[in-house]
Amino acid sequence: MIKTMKKIMLMLLSVVMIVPCLSCAQQKGGENKSSETVSEESDADAQPDSLSILVAGDLMQHSPQINAARSGNTYDYKECFKLVKPEINDVDLAIANFEVTLGGPPYKGYPCFSAPDEYLRDILDAGFDVLTTGNNHCLDSHQKGLERTIMMMDSLQVPHLGTYKDSAERERTYPLLVEKNGFRLVLLNFTYATNGLRVKEPNIVNYIDTLQITQDIVKAKSMNPDMIIALPHWGIEYAMTPAKPDKELADWLFSQGVDHIIGGHPHVLQPMELRNATAENGGNVLVYSLGNYLSNQYKDNTVGGGMVRLDFVKEGGKTKLVKCGYMLTYCSRPQNSGKRNYRIVPVEMDEELSQQDKNIRNKFVNTATQLFEKYNVNFGRY
Ligand SMILES: [Zn+2]
Repeated sequence: MIKTMKKIMLMLLSVVMIVPCLSCAQQKGGENKSSETVSEESDADAQPDSLSILVAGDLMQHSPQINAARSGNTYDYKECFKLVKPEINDVDLAIANFEVTLGGPPYKGYPCFSAPDEYLRDILDAGFDVLTTGNNHCLDSHQKGLERTIMMMDSLQVPHLGTYKDSAERERTYPLLVEKNGFRLVLLNFTYATNGLRVKEPNIVNYIDTLQITQDIVKAKSMNPDMIIALPHWGIEYAMTPAKPDKELADWLFSQGVDHIIGGHPHVLQPMELRNATAENGGNVLVYSLGNYLSNQYKDNTVGGGMVRLDFVKEGGKTKLVKCGYMLTYCSRPQNSGKRNYRIVPVEMDEELSQQDKNIRNKFVNTATQLFEKYNVNFGRY
């Protein structure tokens, strides 16, 4: 009975949601993505020996954002992504952290996030290809929310990682293999905790558990990857530099064979590094926190975040990182912009910002620049 209900619900949701999604699939060469792997498709722009990846920060959803997106009985977030859409669509693969649940109505902001399904639809429309769900808010709508979020992502055919309906799903889809332009990427995602909420069987949340991660990395290596990328949800909120345990975990992940680490959660930017760069491999990227990508947070340093872009080539079967760097984004709120909705604005786009916005943005950029000048290692603007 429950299964039949689920099937009917999925079909209904697919009918409602799949139409807008088709337009986003067309944005990047009409890819038809499977829920388990992203398969290589015939893409007119595809460079078979090169691959570009973009990772964005945390996609939050506070109550004022829900109100701003509401239009009658529906919700629209396209305006939020309009100004960053070109950057997102300029890469072969774009990844972000989906830090809400799709628990169905009533929709809620902090502290227990439940976002309208249109939030996911418009994130995909913006061009994101893979979403992480292993974060401290994944149980905000409890079991129903965890399962419904997965169901919605599956129905829209977006590969996701971090939370699972059961062990069979995790076994089948984790670590997440993404095949693109002849590259095989394997992605890992895990969270420090889930805000005191316990995951209910048979659901699974990937926690930071080095025994489990060791096994997952063994499996990742067996998948014949060109690279393994870890996307940890970690760190101390509002701390501008990583704590000792995060540094140790990063060192350990690299020692286990992870190639790149790009993390989130603290709501502020933290330092970025390029390690072990040789002429052959180009090095290993370590980004502790990309900060807030979209949120209603307004205190210093939380008003924006970053995207990092990594460009690879493959020569003679060997993968090499040829370019990497960050781009800063400012989250403009309606009360500062006079606009209807929130907007993620590349910090260089002066013409898109009110004077009030510019003042806040300038402070954010100045602090970020000082932080990066002091702590970044071989990692600059893209
Ligand atoms: Zn978080």
